[in-house]
Amino acid sequence: MSIVISKEKKEVGLLQTVKEISGVDVAGCLQCKKCTNGCPVTALVKVPPSEIIRRLQLNAGDSILSSDLVWMCASCEICYSRCPMQIDMAAVIDALRMISIEKNAAKQKGNVPLFNRWFLKTISIFGRTYDLGMIAAYKIGTSSYFQDTDKFPMMLQKKKIALFPSFKADRKYVKRILKKKK
Ligand code: SF4
Ligand code: SF4
Repeated sequence: MSIVISKEKKEVGLLQTVKEISGVDVAGCLQCKKCTNGCPVTALVKVPPSEIIRRLQLNAGDSILSSDLVWMCASCEICYSRCPMQIDMAAVIDALRMISIEKNAAKQKGNVPLFNRWFLKTISIFGRTYDLGMIAAYKIGTSSYFQDTDKFPMMLQKKKIALFPSFKADRKYVKRILKKKK
């Protein structure tokens, strides 16, 4: 019986999981830092986008999940539009968020995971965001009942927020997408 020894290097761990969820291969990153230089939150985070990619390339492990950019990324896609290798950083960050929640690695301080959870919850119920419902749930979760409520009449008047959810979306279709993403 012959034994075949493959020289092929196997991808393991977080790098592979991110690739499977996001469909993004970060191997081609040149570390040119164009993403970092254009990112609007770079000045606010300890680990900028290009370094997240570098750490993923080096398979630095689950410590990446606690990077502040994972929860501060605004999904603006500026990095993607600047990247010469067309690496979709926002999709990578989304994957890191999903893994972080799954592994319960979301940072305890800060309310972004709570906001994110209710944002997705309203989408799963109504097929699109229901801002008022999401804000109410967030306020209950953070006990910040009266914070910024003075802006509510003005937002209502300018039709920036709706009192009732919209039922126009194809909820079954959205549910299928969310199920596929799990
Ligand atoms: S812009 Fe693209 S290639 Fe350059 S560092 Fe960022 S992810 Fe890598
Ligand atoms: S998508 Fe996120 S990482 Fe990319 S530029 Fe915007 S905030 Fe920065």
